[in-house]
Amino acid sequence: MLQPQPAVCLQGEAAGTGFEIVHIGPREARTYFDVGTYIWTEKARTPYTIISRTDEAEEAVIAILNAKTDNQLGAFTSRYGSLWHVREQRGGDCVALDELRRVVGDLRRLSDTLLAGDFTEANPLPNGLIMSPHAVAFNLWLVPKEDLRGFSPMFMTYSLYTFLAHELITRALGNRPLLVCNACHDYQRSARKDCKFCSPKCRQANHRATRASQPGRSAAKVRGRPSVSAAMTSAASTAT
Ligand SMILES: [Zn+2]
Repeated sequence: MLQPQPAVCLQGEAAGTGFEIVHIGPREARTYFDVGTYIWTEKARTPYTIISRTDEAEEAVIAILNAKTDNQLGAFTSRYGSLWHVREQRGGDCVALDELRRVVGDLRRLSDTLLAGDFTEANPLPNGLIMSPHAVAFNLWLVPKEDLRGFSPMFMTYSLYTFLAHELITRALGNRPLLVCNACHDYQRSARKDCKFCSPKCRQANHRATRASQPGRSAAKVRGRPSVSAAMTSAASTAT
């Protein structure tokens, strides 16, 4: 789905066959690489394409910002490929989990900065090398239009990191920064900028927590009606 603005096209590669979490201890580190925990995926990768400002692009951005556990980071890596430096070992691709967490932290900070509105568009661009974790790089394609009269500009990248950072920035410039749920702190898409919760379940959990902390309402009173609140929570979660 091309839009009037130049689109960005990610040329990605991913194993798509699951992952393993591999621990390298001091003894194995002599044969392999540094001591640490790694995400291992199969060497054979399948190419895929995602275009900016599509549902697929939004899904990828939300998936990485909300990936907190080793398994969530592994599932993301299996589906979208490596976000960061890959070491070829043990017949597959290994990504160090601590490095991956640092890079995901950079993307979360970028999203939070954009949500707070603390950014300016650099104009003109600074001279020389831009040393920033949010500096990104693209190649430019001129794609023939379907009627073969003229060309459409298309920015292309092989870098998953570049694509995700660009997606976060263009969302914010289009006044659609990703919001953060006040209860579970996951990043979420929403049409409304004042939306505070990702789901009725989180709205309900926050409501209960606020009510329990209010003076004048004893904890025993709140605890005294577990069946009602449990029923409401399960009704709310099935509604989402
Ligand atoms: Zn939530």
